[in-house]
Amino acid sequence: MKDLSIDFIKENEYFLDGEMHEECGVFGVYNVSDNASSLAYYGLHALQHRGQEAAGIAASDNQKVECYKGKGLLTEIFDTQTIDRLGGVHAVGHVRYSTAGGNEIENVQPIMVRAHTGNFAVVHNGNIVNAREIRIELENEGRIFQGTSDSEVIAHLIQKETGTFVEKIIKAANRLEGAFAFIIMTKDCMYGIRDKNGLRPLTIANVDEAGYCLSSETCAFNIVNATTIRDIEPGEVVRIADDGLKFFQYTTEIQNKMCAMEYIYFSRPDSNINNINVHTARRYSGHMLAREDKGKVEADIVVGVPDSSLSAAIGYSEESGLPYELGLIKNRYVGRTFIQPTQKQRERGVRMKLSAVRDIVKDKRIMLIDDSIVRGTTSKRIVQLLKEAGAKEVHVRIGSPAITHPCFYGVDTSTYEELISARMSVEEVRAYIGADSLKFLSCDSLVEAFGTKDLCLSCFTGNYPTRLFSLAKTLVRED
Ligand code: SF4
Repeated sequence: MKDLSIDFIKENEYFLDGEMHEECGVFGVYNVSDNASSLAYYGLHALQHRGQEAAGIAASDNQKVECYKGKGLLTEIFDTQTIDRLGGVHAVGHVRYSTAGGNEIENVQPIMVRAHTGNFAVVHNGNIVNAREIRIELENEGRIFQGTSDSEVIAHLIQKETGTFVEKIIKAANRLEGAFAFIIMTKDCMYGIRDKNGLRPLTIANVDEAGYCLSSETCAFNIVNATTIRDIEPGEVVRIADDGLKFFQYTTEIQNKMCAMEYIYFSRPDSNINNINVHTARRYSGHMLAREDKGKVEADIVVGVPDSSLSAAIGYSEESGLPYELGLIKNRYVGRTFIQPTQKQRERGVRMKLSAVRDIVKDKRIMLIDDSIVRGTTSKRIVQLLKEAGAKEVHVRIGSPAITHPCFYGVDTSTYEELISARMSVEEVRAYIGADSLKFLSCDSLVEAFGTKDLCLSCFTGNYPTRLFSLAKTLVRED
């Protein structure tokens, strides 16, 4: 694999900054005695941090598949009557994040396919990098799309294939490049599919007496009292039916490149990914940061940026011996700034969501631990908050390497222009955010902290695990 040059990607930036970049959450329940929609709602609630712009649930009573979806938080879309009306013994749901312009109701999931061969619902997390090419091919064959989401591409691909439903899924999955975790529900079966690169997570669990759950994150299993069975493997399809589970490997050309940002930022600390607990991985990244700093910087207290950096801050404190303090408080009723679609909304979000604890930080030299720097605006505001509250020095330590390349696999680090570390040196970023010093964790230390090499590190290295496609040039990157 070779690096893409910045200039080359810039030429294609219009395409590459398309409207299908998203980081979402999917959840499914199969064969439960309780109201399946209600369990899906609770599961999705545990995944709400993965997307707050839209959500939906499709349910089946073994006879028909019904769907309800809308824009906003789950609590804004669903009430008890809606959930009761949907009911069902099986259900799939989705929480959605999309970039500006991509949040039309047609793109809100589940995507429903109504066909004479049987209705089915599709929910998807990730980004299919060759979706546009397949879409053009399908449109040229006369197929009509409702929205612009790449989830609709797999729905059409499945519908056009022949064979049993699982054979159709396998054929369709083999056409797709990129990152995806799908759940598909027919009236009486459910399927979980993971991309051959293992970029997006999907785990299966037992629930109820003879039921099953599929989820983007294991934290959702706790809330519905489900017990993890195992992760769906890269390039694997699981079929859940009344005769139990069947696993199919749809390709043997697999690699295990779990998105490192799942550990660093996206997932909840109580989730396990590839059998690694997220809190523990972050805590060890804090240990590594402290080791890299040993004897080089003097500070009085360690402060973590709530919530995703608290585990790394605890780790830094453990390794350095510096006391961990609650120097920043989060207003829990404001969404995450990284997943607000416009810069203006993000800036307003930072001002609303964090406060410095003056009595803790005043006159202190602070070691501030954050998980990542994407655009730099949040870090700048936090340093400013701490200094306004009387902090003497603010040393910023980042529990991941500098993000120098965009993600093409469903995470909205969309263009080089937006990524501060793609444009500036570490020293320039330090000056921009107003910190007294700034250090990022190295890739080697990150790998050591997480205890696995099975990671996608592309946004830090520019080495992408898949080919990248474009409309303008059929293939912008060759192996
Ligand atoms: S490029 Fe970065 S954000 Fe995207 S999948 Fe890879 S590690 Fe995750």
